[in-house]
Amino acid sequence: MRFAVLGSGSRGNATLVECDGTRVLLDCGFPLRDIEQRLAAIDVRPDELTAVVVTHEHGDHVAGVPRLARRYGLEVWATPGTWKVTCASVGRRAGAEDVQRLRLFPSHARRLRIGALTLHPIPVPHDAREPCQFVFEGDGRRLGVLTDAGTVTPRMCDALRECDALLLEANHDPELLRSGPYPPSLQRRVGGAFGHLSNAQAAALLERVHHRRLGKLLLSHLSQQNNRPDLVRSAMRGVSSDLDISIAEQDSGTGWIGV
Ligand SMILES: [Zn+2]
Ligand SMILES: [Zn+2]
Repeated sequence: MRFAVLGSGSRGNATLVECDGTRVLLDCGFPLRDIEQRLAAIDVRPDELTAVVVTHEHGDHVAGVPRLARRYGLEVWATPGTWKVTCASVGRRAGAEDVQRLRLFPSHARRLRIGALTLHPIPVPHDAREPCQFVFEGDGRRLGVLTDAGTVTPRMCDALRECDALLLEANHDPELLRSGPYPPSLQRRVGGAFGHLSNAQAAALLERVHHRRLGKLLLSHLSQQNNRPDLVRSAMRGVSSDLDISIAEQDSGTGWIGV
């Protein structure tokens, strides 16, 4: 199994996970031309995707999904809550209701089988209708993906415990958020129980799920206004000094990373 983050941040998110010819795109918050180029950068054509899986209906995750799915006839997997709000909001103009190959699943489903990959949904506290994140399993390896959560829950920790690689949100530094440009209402939303994980929350989560076989840690969904890569790295080093740590960026992809 291998994966590539095609871009991550409040202006768009997409991650590709591949195993034995199965290619699952997790979220697509980029316009069609943009995602085509980001896929081309890792030598993947959109018609080679097996499915698109959506974590929740926020524009930075779903804005590009309807057009991509309709253009290439792709299967879209989402929770009923996520797809209902997508059809009524950001996906309306992009034709979300016209997506043909829709596969709805409850956020508490035990597992989803997509080709050679098994996905385990993890319900998360985030200000969306029915959001979830995932553990991907394939080739006897496990990749945990967790972004867009305001609180660390026991369910999350249980799900992420045995992973070989983790893609975790480290959204903001609370001090930078407080002194930054966001209005108070947005500061409360981002820093609240249904907002985004701070560096310290991400480090606390890592501490609870860290184990000997965890080889790679990729931090994502960094706020460009309210965080800095050096603060993220130093928060994570406090937990483990020998982990291979990288940071996903908004404008460029990571390239392929083996799990
Ligand atoms: Zn997001
Ligand atoms: Zn979100």
